[in-house]
Amino acid sequence: MIYISENLLKEIESNAERKYPNECCGIIFGKTENDIKNAMFTKEINNSFGEGEEYHRFLINAEDMMKSELYAREKGIDIVGFYHSHPDAQAVPSEYDRVHAMPIYSYIITSVIKGKIGRTKSYELHDNKFMEEEIDFI
Ligand SMILES: [Zn+2]
Repeated sequence: MIYISENLLKEIESNAERKYPNECCGIIFGKTENDIKNAMFTKEINNSFGEGEEYHRFLINAEDMMKSELYAREKGIDIVGFYHSHPDAQAVPSEYDRVHAMPIYSYIITSVIKGKIGRTKSYELHDNKFMEEEIDFI
């Protein structure tokens, strides 16, 4: 389960809208306690896929990941997950998303259809399968 404020979720959605027709992506910082994630804030990350690819997949490169990990450590917080958008596609993880996911994080996906925000859902990886997880507002 992930707890998030309504405002933070709106930020993710407007980021997705701004980046349309490309995918946006970012890191969600917060605190993880007993498998429950509390989102505190997010940081947008440049999609490492170049033009022509970034509309259908996202990648956070190793350098951005390491900087974010060090930043979290410094602040005594955790990376609780990642968000990205699915332009003109449902908020359902792709096979690419699954292969690149890690079980301890939340994956929030926002669907943007014809430039308008659709559904936002969160997923967790269990036994290499994505399961939808509950998003609760703080
Ligand atoms: Zn995806």
